[in-house]
Amino acid sequence: MSVETRVPEEEALQIDTSKMSEGKRQALEVTEAARETAWTHPSFAQELFDGSFRDDLMFPYPLQDPVDARKGDEFIRTLETILREKVDPDEIDRTGEIPQEAIDALAEAGAFGIKIPKEYGGLGLSQTNYSRAAMFLGSHCANTAALLSAHQSIGVPQPLKLFGTEEQKKRFFPRLARGEISAFALTEVDVGSDQAKMTTRGEPSPDGKHFLLSGEKLWCTNGTKAGLFVVMAQTPPKVVRGKERSQITAFIVEKEMPGVEVVSRCHFMGLRALYNGVIRFKNVKVPRENILFDEGKGLRVALTTLNTGRLTLPAACTGASKICLRIVREFARDRIQWGAPIGRHEAIAQKVAYIASHTFAQEAVSLYTAALVDRGGADIRLEAAMCKMFCSETTWRIINETLQVRSGRGYETAASLRARGEAGVPVERFLRDARINLIFEGTSEIMRLFIAREALDKHMKTAGDLLSPRAPLGQKLASALKAGVHYAAWYPAQWNPVPRMFTVHRRLAPHLSYVSRAAHRLARKLFHSMIFYQVALEKKQALLGRFVEIGTDLFTIAATCARADALHSQDSTAHTGVIELADIFSKEARRRVEENFRATANNHDPECYRLGQQVTQDEYAWLEKGAVEFPFK
Ligand SMILES: Cc1cc2nc3c(=O)[nH]c(=O)nc-3n(C[C@H](O)[C@H](O)[C@H](O)COP(=O)(O)OP(=O)(O)OC[C@H]3O[C@@H](n4cnc5c(N)ncnc54)[C@H](O)[C@@H]3O)c2cc1C
Repeated sequence: MSVETRVPEEEALQIDTSKMSEGKRQALEVTEAARETAWTHPSFAQELFDGSFRDDLMFPYPLQDPVDARKGDEFIRTLETILREKVDPDEIDRTGEIPQEAIDALAEAGAFGIKIPKEYGGLGLSQTNYSRAAMFLGSHCANTAALLSAHQSIGVPQPLKLFGTEEQKKRFFPRLARGEISAFALTEVDVGSDQAKMTTRGEPSPDGKHFLLSGEKLWCTNGTKAGLFVVMAQTPPKVVRGKERSQITAFIVEKEMPGVEVVSRCHFMGLRALYNGVIRFKNVKVPRENILFDEGKGLRVALTTLNTGRLTLPAACTGASKICLRIVREFARDRIQWGAPIGRHEAIAQKVAYIASHTFAQEAVSLYTAALVDRGGADIRLEAAMCKMFCSETTWRIINETLQVRSGRGYETAASLRARGEAGVPVERFLRDARINLIFEGTSEIMRLFIAREALDKHMKTAGDLLSPRAPLGQKLASALKAGVHYAAWYPAQWNPVPRMFTVHRRLAPHLSYVSRAAHRLARKLFHSMIFYQVALEKKQALLGRFVEIGTDLFTIAATCARADALHSQDSTAHTGVIELADIFSKEARRRVEENFRATANNHDPECYRLGQQVTQDEYAWLEKGAVEFPFK
């Protein structure tokens, strides 16, 4: 991923903020300034929102290169052995502790430095091999997956790789690769999804050589065990276009620095062995050399880190779905009720089909995006966010359906099943552990907003000034001219697309034609909404959410068909039924797309919004009568 190609931050802001509250304006301006805005290769997903099905960006599907696969195989084999022999996921869940022996074995195998370059002591493996490892981890123990992922997807190694100086890399990479655990500290009590208003501060010393860091971070994963932290803090503001703009800076902080304190360990419904805590920083003297990237660039460090970092979670989710697939396959085959294996009853067969086809789709999007990272220079922001949203939500559904298939045995704990002499299938634990995936590394709601923002980017660049009440007349006229020229050609093309042929398996070709047509329809509808609502479109989250879901389903159909076609051509015997899987997934996804298209025109969003406001203004408090009035203390 290139970080050399960014435009200056003053150019990045295209959204009209004139009618926003001060808090919202500040939040948006800081986030906008931190966006990466220029790339060498276009994004397949972004092109879809613009009405263009760029099959050249998806076909042939980038199957892992055999040389790269061989580089990862040995590590994956070792990882699998460690997981089988030293990582007992139920025991870890019960005790809330990952045994030191397991952590040591993982460190010895290089699992804390999978992507750290070899010259700094890491394994130097590709993103694809890292994703394969995450799949294995996610299929076995979510706690261990979270430990390794928080360390190297969002902890120090990833931002250090992207933004670190040579001196910083030499100083920290070898320690991290050897297994010194790291953490990422951004969230605070009042700073959740809106990260721009943090209260942790870094005050420069008079001689400018140090910063004194003070504040408290919440829910810091690995925080209670980490030796190194990436800490986000406000540093003195800067004046941009006559206005003060908050500055967020990313610091590498050592646990051993005086003033760093683990206040408490947090506990959750799942991930019971997460080493997550409240971390306090009290006048911690951090040398300027520990700033990542530059003063004031912390949010960009965080957002860019998350673009790639977000790919671990979809891979781990895919691993969890694969285990669910095995569980339902065996149970639906062996459990006899009403005179037949339950898998023969249609209600259950439908669930099994959903799980199989969607697991394949998860793998297709995760590995496609990992391959883009390995290729370099590609804009993966949309694809990574779509992977995160699609895979976390799909795995949640898959685990829920797996629980329903196993029914009473799904709800029972593994220990209780074992005590009765049955196999300890831990679906109950899977459900507890998987729920967080829809929350951390960007909630599902924030992912939809993020994707919508990027989806509208081309339109904002073309016509942003025209629609903005803030823009001066001259700028509006220039924008009108630019928009007129662009849309005169673009808009008719969305109505009269050139019919296209796709040279893939005959059962998949119609799905690709559908994606191509639906992309034009999506672009048209997005454009009409932009004209209709103008700057108010930003507030229409339900509508934007549907567009995002349509775009995501179109992306997943394309990736799924591309992967199926590639695997079928490579070795159809080893991948029996792969075309069937992709065909069924695509039909299911197309059904969702059509429903979402219908709902863009036919919905009751305003009434729901109004009701939501009235409820939160206590107008429906009477409805709560009949429940015990119990104060939450
Ligand atoms: C187990 C766990 C591990 C974590 N690990 C880390 C970590 O290692 N480092 C770290 O820094 N943080 C970590 N977090 C924090 C996590 O990333 C946040 O919980 C997440 O960002 C959401 O913040 P919040 O819970 O405060 O929700 P809030 O921001 O308060 O949001 C509440 C709800 O409102 C929605 N919402 C908020 N704003 C909008 C909006 N503009 N439009 C629409 N909907 C909106 C949200 O989607 C959510 O549903 C962790 C949290 C947990 C629970």
